[in-house]
Amino acid sequence: MDPIFVVLIVLAIVIVGGGVAFVATSRDRGAPGEVGAGGDGGSTALAEPPGDTLVEETPPEALEAPEGAPTPEDRAPTEELVRPSFRERLAKARSTFSGYVTSVLSRSEISEESYEELEEALILADVGIGPTQELLDSVRSTVKERKLTTNAELIEVLRAEMKLRLEAPTELVRSEESPTIWLFVGVNGVGKTTTIGKVGRRLADEGASVVMAAGDTFRAAAAEQLGTWADRCGAELVRGAEGGDPSSVIFDAVEAAAARSADVVLADTAGRLHTKTNLMDELAKVRRVADKGSGSVTEVLLVLDATTGQNGLNQARQFAEATDVTGVVLTKLDGSAKGGIVFAIRSELGLPVKLVGLGETAADLVDFDADEFVEALVAVD
Ligand code: GDP
Repeated sequence: MDPIFVVLIVLAIVIVGGGVAFVATSRDRGAPGEVGAGGDGGSTALAEPPGDTLVEETPPEALEAPEGAPTPEDRAPTEELVRPSFRERLAKARSTFSGYVTSVLSRSEISEESYEELEEALILADVGIGPTQELLDSVRSTVKERKLTTNAELIEVLRAEMKLRLEAPTELVRSEESPTIWLFVGVNGVGKTTTIGKVGRRLADEGASVVMAAGDTFRAAAAEQLGTWADRCGAELVRGAEGGDPSSVIFDAVEAAAARSADVVLADTAGRLHTKTNLMDELAKVRRVADKGSGSVTEVLLVLDATTGQNGLNQARQFAEATDVTGVVLTKLDGSAKGGIVFAIRSELGLPVKLVGLGETAADLVDFDADEFVEALVAVD
């Protein structure tokens, strides 16, 4: 045989062999506990083949955990978390309000000044002009109807009206058929990844098995960060190649969850693409694709940064138009946020605030409790 021909055959064998080894390595990475994006073994990174073919090329068998591999239960966190209270964390919001409440209470009887002070307090607290007027109109008519005269009674009516407006179910709905899929949407930096981590931890504490989908394929750091959270709470991580199709990653995560009988898929999504229109189109597609496989999407949670105040509302409107948002997660309410944005979200968008971020650690996510929130906000320090 011509020696050049022999060299060509040997070269071909080496190249094909190398390719097979790469695919095998990618598949091996599908096994839990071996190589995670977080780097220390708790999460699973599933490499994405080129293009949009991730779904077809990753058969469910390949996603199943090999025998003897650690289960999510094995990796579940053990230390108990102590959740903070609104009262303790709403420092900024409380200080804005309490000065006004003290001043109103110092007056001998209800007067026009009492209402003016309350109006100022509500607007400064980010409640928004429309919701403030509406709230005070209701307070006025109740005060009149019940012939109330003291400012202590006025403040009590205000608290009651505020609670009434904020009350809404905060339960995160699970689907009848597993896996339950919860999508997290919102612009970059609002706290989506952190919230997914906290929710994952909460689910793990409840004994649920979780798969996290790194659907923000446009930022490698987002997948790395999600991997770290996945490791912390014993969840699996499914991620794609950088710049890959987010819908494919999420669909693949749902398939992986179904193959492993996992309970919940927590899907991160991109917060920024090239143009705003594209992002909204992409999110609508993510939603459709996520619903195609096993289980169903029961929550689309819009994550909003409370410190952005009324600007956050404009973002919220755009997201709500693109996807059927089921609720809001309001983050950073512990920082410089004034808190009133909760009313604007409820009254202007009709969306319930389901969860609130009160800090950066896993413990700092609480169910929104209208009663506790209002008591903390409208108080005298
Ligand atoms: P993403 O870009 O939407 O995924 O945002 P990240 O999850 O990366 O969060 C952005 C920053 O906000 C990080 O430094 C988080 O630690 C911080 N963060 C998220 N939630 C909260 C919260 O409830 N309170 C505070 N103080 N910081 C938060």
